[in-house]
Amino acid sequence: MKVLKFGGTSVGSVKSISTVIDILKQEDMSQGAPVVVLSAMSGVTNLLVQMAEQAAAGREFTQHLAELETKHYGVVKELLDVQNQNPVLTRLKIYFNQLEDLLQGVLTLRELTPKTRDLILSYGERCSSMMISRIAMQHFPACLFVDATEVVKTDSSYGQAKVNMDLTSLLVNDLYRNNSDKILFVTGFISSNEAGNITTLGRGGSDYTAAIFGAVLNASAIEIWTDVNGMMTADPRMVKKAFSLPELTYTEAMELSYFGAKVIYPPTMIPAFLKKIPIVIKNTFDTSFEGTVIRHDCGASNLAIKGISSVNKISILNLQGSGMVGKAGFSGRLFSLLAREQINVILITQSSSEHSITFAVQPDDAERAKQLMEQEFELELLAKKLEYPVIEEDLAVLAIVGENMKQTPGISGKLFHALGRNGVNVRAIAQGSSEYNISVIISGGDLAKALNAVHDSFFAQLNKTLHAFCLGTGNIGKTLFKQLNDHVEFLEANNGISVKIAGIANTRKMAFDADGFDLNNWEAKLEASHEVADLGDFITKMKAMNLPNCVFIDNTASPKPIEFYEQIFKSNISVVTCNKIGNSGPYSRYKMFRDTARRHGVDFFYETNVGAGLPIIRTLKDLMSSGDRLQKIEAILSGTISYIFNNFNGDATFHDVVQTAQELGYTEPDPRDDLRGTDFMRKILILARDAGYQMEAEDVQIDSILPKACLEAATVADFYAALKSENAYFEDLKNTAASQGKVLRYIGMLDNGKASISLEMVDKEHPFYTMSGSDNIIAFTTDRYKVRPMVVKGPGAGAEVTAAGVFADLINVGAN
Ligand code: ADP
Ligand code: ASP
Ligand code: MG
Repeated sequence: MKVLKFGGTSVGSVKSISTVIDILKQEDMSQGAPVVVLSAMSGVTNLLVQMAEQAAAGREFTQHLAELETKHYGVVKELLDVQNQNPVLTRLKIYFNQLEDLLQGVLTLRELTPKTRDLILSYGERCSSMMISRIAMQHFPACLFVDATEVVKTDSSYGQAKVNMDLTSLLVNDLYRNNSDKILFVTGFISSNEAGNITTLGRGGSDYTAAIFGAVLNASAIEIWTDVNGMMTADPRMVKKAFSLPELTYTEAMELSYFGAKVIYPPTMIPAFLKKIPIVIKNTFDTSFEGTVIRHDCGASNLAIKGISSVNKISILNLQGSGMVGKAGFSGRLFSLLAREQINVILITQSSSEHSITFAVQPDDAERAKQLMEQEFELELLAKKLEYPVIEEDLAVLAIVGENMKQTPGISGKLFHALGRNGVNVRAIAQGSSEYNISVIISGGDLAKALNAVHDSFFAQLNKTLHAFCLGTGNIGKTLFKQLNDHVEFLEANNGISVKIAGIANTRKMAFDADGFDLNNWEAKLEASHEVADLGDFITKMKAMNLPNCVFIDNTASPKPIEFYEQIFKSNISVVTCNKIGNSGPYSRYKMFRDTARRHGVDFFYETNVGAGLPIIRTLKDLMSSGDRLQKIEAILSGTISYIFNNFNGDATFHDVVQTAQELGYTEPDPRDDLRGTDFMRKILILARDAGYQMEAEDVQIDSILPKACLEAATVADFYAALKSENAYFEDLKNTAASQGKVLRYIGMLDNGKASISLEMVDKEHPFYTMSGSDNIIAFTTDRYKVRPMVVKGPGAGAEVTAAGVFADLINVGAN
């Protein structure tokens, strides 16, 4: 025979109760009728707690009582035939009258003892089970309602009673033997002590009732029917990517549920474990799900951990002081005291210096624990051998669990890497000696982010989600969104990365969506946003969203965002930027960016600062980090100037070539902004710095292409006029070069720590002789590449290639 337990949501509505009946109809009864254990309808136990506390505080409760009645009567009216309704309604009414009397008593006395509280809570299970047993009678020939207080016997620890297994076994066996032909409908959660007073087994205790019946009756399986697909790798309400586990051991299930995986109540495991009865967690709302099996002998699993669980509101206290060093007995006294006073300790850590013990408790227990400690250690405190305990609140425990963790190195490294990279500060750490569990205490506000980040890092078979916040919706920003949109599936399939754009801002508006914008209509969403763009607010909001694996993308050419990079790094958020202004400003700031990013374990990628999407920065970095030594860099890194000199041949005048370049959109509105070489200088400066030279902008020597008159012209029109009148100068340059079989090239150079940009004449042998369009080219001469330099060449400007470079940087952040 089997024991089937249905939780609160499974019996919470007309529809779900009908499903329960259907599930029972599918049962194979040939091995004996099942025992069905039932919870209170969902929300009812909480409502009873609330009413009891309201009454004790002198407040009215009748409205809640009416709510409770309506909830049950509604089910009776829907699921019982008219002729069967009256006896059930009468029975329910008796329960509700008793409940009202009790609550009235509490209200009068303004006192709620644990004993009375258990009695009040017992009505939830009694109402649901009695009612459902009557509904079942319409479908099955023999059903019996069992009030478990008659057979589950406990001590008198109200709220969390201990079961007297010997006595309970006798009673349950008797009951079953006398009714073996009937389906028993048993109240979960409730029990009674020797005197017959009602006790409860602890919140979530219906699971435990099921395990007790299963163990006593040697059931073939205990099925826990709930509202999710079994035990999952994390709480699905917190971690969207959590997935169902096919099986786990009793120990794993116990560790997971101890730290908050509410699907199953931890004590449940013990009776089942002792008799090796499998527990199967099934979903009432998806009966096709096969279930998670908790059993003794699980097959080998290739998962490093089985799951991550958490307790989201805890407080910690510390016992510390010089008086503890080398003295036995402090922890003994502390924990006996807490046990005696029934304060449940969630987690303990002790520093190896023996100087301090930290332990976690429920927030409700913290103040009492503190007072008890102050009484117990009064003498030591007065003698200053111990420090007064302090309560720290609003903390959470996150625990990773799995038997494979045992003796597998690197697990904790991975955990702390994920937490560190996401800026989650760890207050305390505990690893059970079983090595089945590593728990960390973190700030409550970081819990959701931490759970998702840790889940992403351990379950690599799932895609890692990057949350990107993008500044700038000009050509590059727009193109990036388009490229991302076109490659969603490819990225997921090939790189194991999914990118969510969680924030977008331009100079007018900003908008946020933690679930990621739909990249087919981000523009409409941004336009419709009521939030006016403000860079400071954008950053504050990005931090406040506290999402895991965040990246800030700066697709602007503005100096403003640069001011925020430092605080972004300090918030453990990586930066990807095509904005050159930051890296080409003062050297001290260039260095500060790198130091801050490194200290906070995040990335700073800016491949597009030089040569758009061409792999220049990365190539230089790889050369340097593999121990090569740079001798010289020669480069043409301005697409505009490249275009101009590539076309300044034959009959075309310099003036006409510049004008055509402007018409084609290759130049700034004032072409001198390109021809002065400032932008080119920034790129050479960034390369020099990346090559290890501590250099400022003034250190780059720039030879101007333009004669003085052109540089000094007041307007763009004047500039073109000056260019025309200087025609002879340019023709002369061109002809001199041609007469030597050479061409003109404006080349940036980094040679032995000296950076310069100058107009050169190069011959056929030079790698820069043949160039076309607006190509960029860079030649690295190093100790390894000294006979022939390493050359990178290709289109070095344009939205498509720049966005592609930003895209590649973003994916590189994901890979780390
Ligand atoms: P029932 O009322 O059926 O006893 P509970 O509410 O006690 O159900 O437990 C089921 C809930 O446990 C799920 O709805 C889910 O939100 C939560 N939960 C927490 N951690 C996990 C986990 N690791 N796997 C599955 N569910 C979890
Ligand atoms: N109804 C009880 C509770 O909500 C017991 C249970 O559902 O397991 O805690
Ligand atoms: Mg439960």
